Amino acid sequence: MHFLDQAKIYLKSGAGGPGAVSFRREKYVEYGGPDGGDGGRGGDIVFEAVPGLNTLIDFRYSQHFKAKRGGHGMGKDRTGASAPDLVIKVPVGTQVISDEDGETVLADFTEVGQREVFLEGGLGGRGNASYKTATNRAPRQHQPGMPGEEMWVWLRLKLLADVGLVGLPNAGKSTFINAVSNAKAKVGHYAFTTLVPKLGVVRHKGREFVLADIPGLIEGAADGAGIGDRFLGHIERCRVLIHLVDIAGTGEQDPAEAMRVIEEELAAYGADLEDKPRLVALNKLDLADSELAEGFAEELKAAGADEVFAISGATGEGIEQLLDAVLGYLPEQTSTETKGSEVEETEDDEGGEWSPI
Ligand code: GDP
Ligand code: MG
Repeated sequence: MHFLDQAKIYLKSGAGGPGAVSFRREKYVEYGGPDGGDGGRGGDIVFEAVPGLNTLIDFRYSQHFKAKRGGHGMGKDRTGASAPDLVIKVPVGTQVISDEDGETVLADFTEVGQREVFLEGGLGGRGNASYKTATNRAPRQHQPGMPGEEMWVWLRLKLLADVGLVGLPNAGKSTFINAVSNAKAKVGHYAFTTLVPKLGVVRHKGREFVLADIPGLIEGAADGAGIGDRFLGHIERCRVLIHLVDIAGTGEQDPAEAMRVIEEELAAYGADLEDKPRLVALNKLDLADSELAEGFAEELKAAGADEVFAISGATGEGIEQLLDAVLGYLPEQTSTETKGSEVEETEDDEGGEWSPI
């Protein structure tokens, strides 16, 4: 089972700067020798694996990465300035895949700090000073800079959930994940619609995290199907669980009972799931009045919940406060902002349909 985040991006290293054609001009020297310097090197395209990034979501918004070209050579034998490298920050676990066959791994970033020059910048061209010979004392030859290299590649990352979503069937998990993320989970009237966990990338207040609808896992594990083990990575990574409880009484159990059933399942599942902090959210607030919600919240607190939120996945009410609380459990993040570049902001061109799975 793979949950992949992927993005197609265009890379171009900088061209070298052209060499200069220049002749010395000094007092008392009528015809000075050639003194045109070489062009500077173009910028390299470099990838660097940084901590604190979990997804490739930023690459949905900027897809073109072009390093700058080298500076022109100048008179007085001065070499043009080398262009800075364009460093593209990626999460640990990112693979760079060939666009040609869609499978060849060109680079694999497995450790924080790993840094690779992916495309080299072009060399600067020779200036006319370097063409001077005994027989040609006033050469006008010079070279243009070498071109940069360009390539389309895929970035691929296996997603691991930072936040798990639990709750009885029909509590509204799929609806919630659809409301807050880019996932397209199936929403159904019946229990067990969710056969495999769905992942969605959530962006809230400039932070991002991966949210997984874990119920399929719990139900699957209860079936003895052994599905659960395949998601151990997700569970280990989860910092916090959101536990959705249906407020509307569409289920047979009252909220405190519904919460207890899930708590038991968490404990039975193992893998220390029950040790994760959880945020309990009474869902389907749009179907209940606030008095009822408050009464239920008190009941849930009495039954052991620390913090209780009231939300509606359908109308969005209360979701912001819940997501604010989630951020408090997640580590600080790095920004992917790229320096020394000419990054173009683009909307979804040629990137293909984004799919978290
Ligand atoms: P899941 O089994 O936990 O994934 O639950 P679903 O997201 O599939 O939702 C079950 C049913 O509850 C569907 O009919 C949803 O339309 C409905 N539902 C989910 N969230 C809300 C909500 O906030 N308000 C209302 N009125 N209905 C909801
Ligand atoms: Mg569902």
